[in-house]
Amino acid sequence: MKVTFLGATGEVTGSCYLVEGDGLRFLVDCGMFQGGRAADAKNRKDFAFVPHDIDFMVLTHAHIDHSGLIPRLCKDGFKGPIYTTEATTELLMIMLRDSANIHEREAERANRKRKNKGHISKPLYEMADAEASLAQVVPKPYDDIFSPHDNVRIRLRDAGHILGSAILEIWLKDGGGERKITFSGDLGQPGRPILRDPCLINETDYLVVESTYGDRLHKSLQPSLDELVEIIKGRMDKGNIIVPAFAVGRTQELIYYLYNLTRQGRVKNLTVFLDSPMAQNVTDLTRRHMELFDKEGRQLAEWYARSGHALTLKFTRTVQESMAINSIRSGAIIMSASGMCTAGRILHHLRHGLARPNNTVLITGYQAQGTLGRRLVDGAKTVKIFGDEIAVKARIVTIGGFSAHADQAAILKWLGGFEVAPRQTFITHGEPEASVALSQEIKSRLGWNTVIPVPGQQVMIEA
Ligand SMILES: [Zn+2]
Repeated sequence: MKVTFLGATGEVTGSCYLVEGDGLRFLVDCGMFQGGRAADAKNRKDFAFVPHDIDFMVLTHAHIDHSGLIPRLCKDGFKGPIYTTEATTELLMIMLRDSANIHEREAERANRKRKNKGHISKPLYEMADAEASLAQVVPKPYDDIFSPHDNVRIRLRDAGHILGSAILEIWLKDGGGERKITFSGDLGQPGRPILRDPCLINETDYLVVESTYGDRLHKSLQPSLDELVEIIKGRMDKGNIIVPAFAVGRTQELIYYLYNLTRQGRVKNLTVFLDSPMAQNVTDLTRRHMELFDKEGRQLAEWYARSGHALTLKFTRTVQESMAINSIRSGAIIMSASGMCTAGRILHHLRHGLARPNNTVLITGYQAQGTLGRRLVDGAKTVKIFGDEIAVKARIVTIGGFSAHADQAAILKWLGGFEVAPRQTFITHGEPEASVALSQEIKSRLGWNTVIPVPGQQVMIEA
């Protein structure tokens, strides 16, 4: 058996692994590269394999950097089933349609600007491609072993990262023997509300582990919540708080905290605009999946049923409603996607809000290199939005404690669940410093063999 590392090598986006064996070929994830022009070019490049030759695909979770190229994969000839959890299946219906919509609109905008210059921009894929690919998704429950091929058994375990996220346990038969490879997918930070902690796996022959925060420890949650309270109390009489929101996971978690702080009496009478149709749909979907919640999540849901009106949460559906928010000068918390400010309605809110010193831009998650969010975090004095140069006068605040990714300590704790060292541990899904730091920790603390694959690297998985 052979594994080829096709994405999320030396970076955090574009997750994709090709597994090949005796008359068998399948993919784990088919994610979009994100962050700037280089990413766009990679997303449009021919696949390193023939899509038609792939038997099936397994998807860890619905985030676009893991799922976003699925419509293109299917458009280019992949006809097989896409196995993933039930909640991920529902999320994909929201996310792949949203992604297709974004690509169609971006191409339209580019074509409008370039009128008469002969070159026509084509969207990476269209709505029809997204719809067709969704028909190939086959939901599977957590924890049950299924067998998509005579030589393969697979089990999806809760990764605690976003709703429906999974760790993949895959058993492969080749020749006489069988060996197991485990893909961590993205791991959640344990102890967070709503979702359960990542499931511990106790044995595997080979392991692929993410390292987004492999070199860092998150601030603990309590000081982050204190900071959030201070920001809300300190400046909202003069300005707004603009939150670039990751539509899936982070948004629901932030809403959870705002409700919980209200329940505790630490903040009062908040008005929160959730200005992202996708985030609204995901929030509704999350509320319907209470069976996946942990204890705190269920307790808050009960309080909400009794006292949910203590906070005003407004869903803005139409563009007119969204634009109307820009006339509010103070007192509003505006949550809008995308989370790294690469697309979506957040760009309009930043265009209107960045130049006002009384506003706060609250960054709550990872900002990849090359994104507008990263430039704000790095302290840019001006940024370009829709071709206009905008002065950055608003305060940019990063609250580090809300990440949906396990930090170094949490990854090591999860690795500690393995009772025997894997024969080989592959470290992916991190910027180089993060992967190297995690690799060093794994070697020194656990004494395991580690490899940080380079793009396109192939490794043999021996029985
Ligand atoms: Zn993710």
